[in-house]
Amino acid sequence: MSDLTKVLLDEADMPTQWYNLVADLPQPPPPVLHPGTHQPVGPDDLAPLFPMALIGQEVTAERHVDIPGAILDIYRLWRPSPLYRARRLERLLDTPARIYYKYEGVSPAGSHKTNTAVAQAYYNAEEGVRKLTSETGAGQWGSALAFACAQFGVECEIWQVRASYDQKPYRKTMMEVWGATVHPSPSEVTEAGRSVLAKDSASPGSLGIAISEAVEMAAGAPDTKYSLGSVLNHVLLHQTIIGEEALLQLAKVGETPDVIYGCTGGGSNFGGLSFPFLREKLAGNNDVRIVAVEPSACPSLTRGRYTYDYGDTAGLTPLMKMHTLGHDFIPDPIHAGGLRYHGMSPLMSHVYELGLIEAVAKNQMECFDAGVRFARTEGIVPAPEPTHAVAACIEEALRCREAGEEKVILTALCGHGHFDMGAYDRYFAGDLTDYDYPEEKVDQALTRLPDFEV
Ligand SMILES: *Cc1c(COP(=O)(O)O)cnc(C)c1O
Repeated sequence: MSDLTKVLLDEADMPTQWYNLVADLPQPPPPVLHPGTHQPVGPDDLAPLFPMALIGQEVTAERHVDIPGAILDIYRLWRPSPLYRARRLERLLDTPARIYYKYEGVSPAGSHKTNTAVAQAYYNAEEGVRKLTSETGAGQWGSALAFACAQFGVECEIWQVRASYDQKPYRKTMMEVWGATVHPSPSEVTEAGRSVLAKDSASPGSLGIAISEAVEMAAGAPDTKYSLGSVLNHVLLHQTIIGEEALLQLAKVGETPDVIYGCTGGGSNFGGLSFPFLREKLAGNNDVRIVAVEPSACPSLTRGRYTYDYGDTAGLTPLMKMHTLGHDFIPDPIHAGGLRYHGMSPLMSHVYELGLIEAVAKNQMECFDAGVRFARTEGIVPAPEPTHAVAACIEEALRCREAGEEKVILTALCGHGHFDMGAYDRYFAGDLTDYDYPEEKVDQALTRLPDFEV
């Protein structure tokens, strides 16, 4: 153990490969199925939406994938990202635990999403794609993709979930600064959007609806493709740069984590941080517990069903076997917009079924309280999403205090909250409430799962 507070890696030591956990799993994840035939999808089925390079990464069994030089060049704008020891938070909690956080808010768009956005924009540009469409919940993914598209001269069109479009107007402006076009979702621009508005003209939208809109636009235009900011294997692959760096940084200070906590929306920052550590665990080099932290209002891992479902509300995407609350489940409007997704990454779901990770759910009041304690000690104002992980770290550190245990706790502070002051405002004004698991709503949505047996 050293007395460093900020553990930096030299630029020259930045990892140059992404890590693919699939290569080391005892069983491969179940296949993705065609929504019409219910047969495994092939590359041709996905070609209207994704470039071949990303389709290849989606199904690869290679353990490592080289990161192209043009992507490394852009990563170097903010990577390697710092790993901090949360000394002042530890002191506040009076805990013998040592808490480390890998800070991804240093990227131009303010979150980990740029790690995959840059890669996706690069591979699309290489294959001559003119425009990318996508959805954004809290605005972090949309701004990351807008930034990345600007780097490679690709046009960018984004559907932003209505609730966040209204709550976080500066995220929209940020996307526009980087040259993107932004629509509130549901919109009148697409068939999927119009059909939702016909039923509910005041719909607050959802990630599932916004995905339907972006997919519909990409499927209908030959020079346009679609980009997803989480959930898919290639996205988790790109995020492993986080965990690969963290492994090197912890080794530098002679530490091995006993437990990793990460917030999970679609599972990408959590997978990106934890998969390299899981590789080491499977190889017998550590005995780390890996715990996903999700919102109680959208508890896909802890309360969802593990079954084949669509990735979007309209049912345009292939069927993925994942933990799901039902593709037309619309979660309550908690402020962690990035965690309001009905499903969970199929790879993360598979890893959960294999018993390699655990999951817990947290309510938003406890999370905002943790976010404020973190900001007042460590200085960084976390986005509402990673406050879920921070709350779990605090709980663990207090357990360590009771038990007199010196555990090493690791988390990803995957984004800053500079565009979330409205949410903190409402927290201080006492306007926030906890949403319990809406059992009836989920039961209803689960009755509309795709109807077939595998
Ligand atoms: C998008 C986002 C999330 C949720 O997505 P994951 O794929 O689960 O990481 C969490 N935190 C932040 C800051 C985000 O931008």
